[in-house]
Amino acid sequence: MRVASRLCCRWPMPDRAPPEPGSVAASTFLPYGRQEIGDADIKAVVEALVGNWLTTGPRVAEFEQAFARHCGAPEGVAVNSGTAALHCAMRAVGVGPGDEVIAPAITFAASANAAIYEGATPVFADVEPGTLLIDPASVAARITSRTKAIVAVDYAGQPADYDALYALAKARGIRVVADACHSPGATYKGWKSGTLADISCFSFHPVKHLTTCEGGMCTTGDAEMAAHMRRFRNHGIDSDHRAREASGAHVYDMAELGYNYRLPDVQCALGLSQLKRLNGWIAARQQVAAWYDAAFEELPRVMPLHTHADRTHARHLYVVRLPPDISRDKVFASLRAAGIGANVHYAPVYLHSYYQARGYRAGLCPAAEQASREILTLPLFPAMSQADVQRVVEALTTATA
Ligand SMILES: *Cc1c(COP(=O)(O)O)cnc(C)c1O
Repeated sequence: MRVASRLCCRWPMPDRAPPEPGSVAASTFLPYGRQEIGDADIKAVVEALVGNWLTTGPRVAEFEQAFARHCGAPEGVAVNSGTAALHCAMRAVGVGPGDEVIAPAITFAASANAAIYEGATPVFADVEPGTLLIDPASVAARITSRTKAIVAVDYAGQPADYDALYALAKARGIRVVADACHSPGATYKGWKSGTLADISCFSFHPVKHLTTCEGGMCTTGDAEMAAHMRRFRNHGIDSDHRAREASGAHVYDMAELGYNYRLPDVQCALGLSQLKRLNGWIAARQQVAAWYDAAFEELPRVMPLHTHADRTHARHLYVVRLPPDISRDKVFASLRAAGIGANVHYAPVYLHSYYQARGYRAGLCPAAEQASREILTLPLFPAMSQADVQRVVEALTTATA
């Protein structure tokens, strides 16, 4: 590795770590998602690593601005996970004890957990059966005088119906937060993900579109909320170590109870480098999805989710639905036996034991519960070939015959 040879390293460094015996890379196992790390990423990380600022350094603001610009949003606030981004958003929109936050039943638990971090109560809305996006009619039925925010999830990479949600929210002073962890690069009626809600939350976990190992970002058009989130991610302190070094001052104030949600400079270097290839990766994901779509036109028992004509889909996940008379779990098992990393996204959040212990009961969201028994996530990542897709389709054809 060229970069490493400039460093004082006593050990020979391979271009890539060899696959561990029995690991995913060593076998023909096709995972449901996989990151891409190239030489430019490695070079960027090493440069940051030998620089002066390992944590809050110049690359943080650089990455925030570059990511926000990519979304067309005025502000970006980098944090160390998508979950931290959701927590920042809850604090910035003023969610607190006694408030209710409406979230879809089909999502990763963090979408709802963030409300609990701030002492609020998640209220689960049902999803549209064809898209598994939050159903505005169900949201309307769940709104009470205590509703403070709606967390819309851009499930699988397709934006939720933000016009319908704002039509419910705006007059009542309810904030809309986008859990956009699946949807960087997607559009809704021509507007880009990251600009569709009061605050949009992204994740840079390795299975997502771009990675910083762990990481996340909030985008917003509201400069005050952005400043609040920057303080919240730094213990509630509004100047950081680097700013104080620059100004020569030692005094600082902690104005509220925040957390350490800072995204390190080294990881921002990776994010900046990855961001350059985001558009290409989204196009590659859309190509893989198009291959699947074409194949499933011939296979009526395997039904891809619906894509609305007024949206572009960022294709984080490729999800199909099976008819109720086919056992999804048997199909899942036979795909796994064929070395195909099928997955299920997701069981309704409120069926987790933590939520059950808090009094949530099965039956709350019938469409979500029905869907969760019939859905299957198929492998989808930018490096997949048409032959990989063919392999999945053939295994699925056999498993559903
Ligand atoms: C990945 C994800 C999160 C959480 O992101 P982390 O970076 O893993 O904390 C939240 N919501 C959704 C919908 C996600 O897919």
